[in-house]
Amino acid sequence: MSVSATVNAIVPLALLEAIRNLDTPLDDGLSAELAGETFTKRLGLSSTVAAQIQRYRDMVSRGDGVTDEEAVQVFRLVGRRSDATLVYSDAGRRAARLAARRYGGSLGPVGRFVPKATRRRMGVRAAARAIRRAFGLELKADPGGPWVGVRDSLASRAGFEGSGCFYYAALIGEALRVASDFEGSMIHEKCKSRGDAECRWKAADADQRW
Ligand SMILES: [Zn+2]
Repeated sequence: MSVSATVNAIVPLALLEAIRNLDTPLDDGLSAELAGETFTKRLGLSSTVAAQIQRYRDMVSRGDGVTDEEAVQVFRLVGRRSDATLVYSDAGRRAARLAARRYGGSLGPVGRFVPKATRRRMGVRAAARAIRRAFGLELKADPGGPWVGVRDSLASRAGFEGSGCFYYAALIGEALRVASDFEGSMIHEKCKSRGDAECRWKAADADQRW
């Protein structure tokens, strides 16, 4: 992908919101006492991050994208943290929910009036539509379960294959959860960090019915 390619502003927005979320102290007495000292030093609580979050929210509502380079930079910001996998997972879920709201990734009230199997099929299609429109990811429907393969992910481009892959697992899983009644987990079947040609995530559901 070239440097001038654009990435949906939902991506950096979700990443920064996740950083802020993980950096926010729990509301207890001790945190309040330490607040002035330790917590203001946390990146997620800085005024820079707050301003960037607002900027990305505005961009999302206008439908503007960021450059590929900017998206990679924000992705890299998370990879350096000791809690990177937690932040990536939180960001992935946020990105999926934002995309579902904006790009029609849920069934709405209609879902309640159709049989479970139909709901599942419609849900997978709705999730596929949302993540394709928002992120250019292709969710393939397979009898064995829907899956997504990516050769050149943000995780690869940011230099954080492996930990960055948690972002994709959480994003795809949450997109399916929002749209269908998926309650399973995502399996990272193939990973470039393990020498595979691409990263591949597959949905594994308890009832195994797709
Ligand atoms: Zn991977």
